[in-house]
Formats: sequence, C-alpha cells, structure tokens
Amino acid sequence: MSKMDKVRQFQVKPKIWYGIGSVAKLGQQGYQKVCIVTDEGMVKFGLLKMVTDVLEAAGIEYHVFPDVKPDPSTDIVEKGLTHILMDRPDVLIALGGGSSIDTAKGIIYYTYHFKAMFTDREYIVKPQFIAIPTTAGTGSEVTEYAVITDQKTGTKIPLTDDIMMPDAAILDPKLIESVPAGATAATGLDVLTHAVESYVSTGNNPFSRCYAAKACELVFKSLLPSYENGHDLDSKASMQIASSMAGIAFNSSGLGMAHAIAHGVGAQYHLPHGLACAMVLPYVVAFNGKDERAEYLYKRLLESVGEPQDAGASAAATFVRLIFELCGKLGIPTCLKASKADTDNFAEVRDKLIDRAMADTTLTTNPVQPTRDEMGTVVDMVYAGV
Ligand code: NAD
Repeated sequence: MSKMDKVRQFQVKPKIWYGIGSVAKLGQQGYQKVCIVTDEGMVKFGLLKMVTDVLEAAGIEYHVFPDVKPDPSTDIVEKGLTHILMDRPDVLIALGGGSSIDTAKGIIYYTYHFKAMFTDREYIVKPQFIAIPTTAGTGSEVTEYAVITDQKTGTKIPLTDDIMMPDAAILDPKLIESVPAGATAATGLDVLTHAVESYVSTGNNPFSRCYAAKACELVFKSLLPSYENGHDLDSKASMQIASSMAGIAFNSSGLGMAHAIAHGVGAQYHLPHGLACAMVLPYVVAFNGKDERAEYLYKRLLESVGEPQDAGASAAATFVRLIFELCGKLGIPTCLKASKADTDNFAEVRDKLIDRAMADTTLTTNPVQPTRDEMGTVVDMVYAGV
C-alpha cells in the first residue's frame, strides 16, 4: 500500500519577522488600536517600553493588560477578556514568554466559543493577533495550542483551536537578552523536548520531521553559547528560530510521553515547564528506544545533530547520553530528587502523577503506548534517576 493513501494537511502560519530590530515592524502595519497582553517582568526588564516606543513613534493608540502570571489560570484569562471587551482593539499583541502568549490565546478562545454569553455581541470580529515571544522555548508563537490552568483544580488544560494561531510573530533577539541563564537553559530544553518528541511522534510527517530535525541541530549548536553569554545575539537568534521551528513541527505532529509526565510533575512541584521537560526527556527517550521505528528515528536525529552513534550502544542510548551531557553543562539536575523541588511527598503523589500522565492528551502520539506499570517505572526514574 502507498504511504500516500491518506489525505493529510500541513499548514504553515504565521508570518514571521525575525532578526535584530524586527520589533520595529509593528510601527509599519497601519494598526490603529492595540492591546498588549503581558506580565510585570516585561515592565521590569524594559521590554514593554521597547514595544510601546515603536507604537508611540508611529502614533498608534495602545492599552496594556499587565496581569499575566506564570502558568496562566482561567481567572487571569477571564480578567483579560473583560479588558478586551471594554477596550475593543483591532490588534492584540502578546508580549512575553509562553504564559503571556497563552493568556492572549485563551482570551481569543473564550471570545469565540462563549460569545453567545456576552451582552455586547457586536464585538465578534477577531482582532489581529501578534505574538512577540521573550523566551526561546514554548514555540507558542507558531502553534494553535494554549495551556491554561484550571483555577479550581490546579490541572493544566490544553486547548487546541486554529482560531488561536497568531497572524504574525516577531523574533527579535534583543528581547531575549535579559532572560536569566537558568531560564535560558530550561526554555531551551523545552525546545529540545518539542523537537525530539515531534520527530518520533506517531503524527510525524515529512514536513514536521524537517522542522524538528533542524530545530534539534540548532539547539545542540546554540543553546550552550546562549546560556554562557547572555549577549551573544547570534546564538539567541538561532535559539529563537529553533523554538519556532520546533513549534511548527509539533503543531503538526503532536508531542509525546515526556510532555505527558512533565505536565503533572511541573504542576505538582511548581517547576518551570522547560525544567520539568528536561528532567523527564532522557528517561522517555530510553523507554521509547525499545520501539524499532523510534530507534530508527533517533538514529536519523543523531545524523542531523552530527553525532556518531556510540559503539555498542543503541541510537536511543546515545541520544540519552547527549541529553544528559548537555543538561550537565547547563546545570540542569538529572532527576527530581537531585533538584531543589521538595519531593518528600513523592510516595503519596506517585499514583496521581501516573494517572495524570496516562490521561494526558500528549501521550496519544507517543511512539509506544506504555502500560500503567511501565509509566510508573519511568515516573520512578524521573524521581530518583537511574
Ligand atoms: P513564562 O512565560 O511563564 O515566563 C517565566 C518568567 O520569565 C516570567 O516571570 C517572565 O516575566 C520571565 N521572562 C520572560 N521573558 C523574559 C525576558 N526576556 N527577560 C527576563 N525575564 C523574562 O515562561 P515560558 O517558559 O516562556 O512559558 C511557560 C508557559 O508556556 C507554561 O504555562 C507552559 O505550559 C506554556 N507552554 C505553552 C506551549 C504552547 O504551545 N502554547 C508550549 C510549551 C509550553
């Protein structure tokens, strides 16, 4: 049977402006009224001013919704929604890391799916949506996903809808210069996790593999210099491109078991998303390596990264070694027990972590569907190492 016996879709969006000074593009688009969704870190580090200076120079009216918090919850999205309904901008700009971009996406999602609830139903025209990431990590600027935390239960709700895909993204390396080294490492390993999981996912396709492999290559080349020198704008730009490429890849292919575990572990121990992913990824690669097709794909990925397979070792095992080596240089702990997280309650929450991972939608595209016992074994390794 032909490999092309099914009609599939691969969509490329949004328009991407990239490079030093690309934020100036905002002033050249004829926008009239802008609302900026952001967090207080953007004010503190002068990043909001970089954007508002451009808008002011172009005579564009703007308002700021600065209330985003990390891992945004439903109540922040609702507050932002009220703000937007009052303000009625023609352009919504998300400025910040994945939390600001996902909050803006949540606002757009609520506006469209719950519009029947609003008394003012005239405001149904979607504002243009511009994502300006200030971390090189989530790839949210090029995906139709958002992760919003349920305020009542504390669980992360993944939303998917192409209404949330930005119309344009701006990747200006000057905007990620201020990211602290630890966050550069964690967000960069989020990129690696997206790229690796996308590449071996059951939803992978020729387009997604191309973007994922290039993203992986760029991470191994540029993450360490970007971590070691916050002012190395070439490696920062390279990581921004890697982040968006990995986002384009997983938007099409889906993710896998590392994200399924990391979502629960991150929420339980209040870990930044990228750090949780980094501590889970090597154990998942080792687990997936038992699958023949996944092993073949890890081999191909090693070639993209330009690393030979270790003598006598599988491609998966070689890849695990490379991830641990990179994490070691970036100061990322090898397991939860070795991290600063207070994991004394691990035995009590273990079952909950396994249940959450088994139910996470990202698990559906993992190359191997684990049994509950197998998931437990991997979760134990994430806790204690090997
Ligand atoms: P973040 O947006 O939560 O930001 C973390 C902190 O870093 C904040 O305090 C922020 O102010 C600060 N920060 C951001 N940019 C900075 C800069 N340039 N200089 C100094 N400080 C800066 O971090 P993140 O890792 O980008 O995003 C994580 C969120 O994204 C999580 O909620 C995660 O679930 C979500 N996520 C979404 C997707 C998606 O496809 N939508 C994918 C992966 C993760």
